[in-house]
Amino acid sequence: MSKTQVRYAVAALTDCGSKRPSNEDAFGYSAEHGVCVVCDGMGGAAAGEIASSLAVREVLRILGERNQAAPLEKSIEEAIRATNEAIHSRSEHDPHLRGMGTTLAGLATKGRRVLVFNVGDSRCYRLRKRKLEQISQDHSLVEEQVRMGRITPDEALRSPLRNVITRALGTQPEVEPDIFELKAEAGDTFLLCSDGLTGEVPDAQIEALLAADLPLEQICANLVAAANQAGGHDNITCMLVRAEG
Ligand code: CA
Repeated sequence: MSKTQVRYAVAALTDCGSKRPSNEDAFGYSAEHGVCVVCDGMGGAAAGEIASSLAVREVLRILGERNQAAPLEKSIEEAIRATNEAIHSRSEHDPHLRGMGTTLAGLATKGRRVLVFNVGDSRCYRLRKRKLEQISQDHSLVEEQVRMGRITPDEALRSPLRNVITRALGTQPEVEPDIFELKAEAGDTFLLCSDGLTGEVPDAQIEALLAADLPLEQICANLVAAANQAGGHDNITCMLVRAEG
């Protein structure tokens, strides 16, 4: 492993897709603090947009202000807990926003340490040496059924229940993220995305698009285009983070 300083390059793109009237996805990142977040809101257009943008803003703010001496994992848990409370209390106080929530897939770096965290079915993948690996596990009904061996991954993709998620930010008084710790190697490319990408584009195609020798911005555009070509039934968001050096 090289001891040289690692640098992360970031690119992101969101798109309404071809069928939805509005975009309830949101994303944000802080290069300074090494934090990236993708959220997919729900609860009706206005509420979904508020939930996802509130989540992005709060997670970036809290992790940006965190005590650097505290373990990063603890700071992530705290950020998710506080963000969940912020969304939940806002929905309790405004009848128009009742029941709103959002998924979240995030990534925080400290040197080569990469902590991936998620709630719901927005995902994080890593491409290493042209091989794609899903890092996060969906908090969804079909994913749980696959893990219990009740249905196959193929059946999960076609299930009418594939959009039912079992965890979200803001819909309950408390929620916990899953956190995965990795060590970045030079060239590793992480993808954070909403299900508007993964519901349309098979992993093998995502792998091929990510492995292309193109600027990150162009790869984001190609991922969004692939989801739209496959139907674009949902909002599509992709964020790429590449470890350089
Ligand atoms: Ca979605």
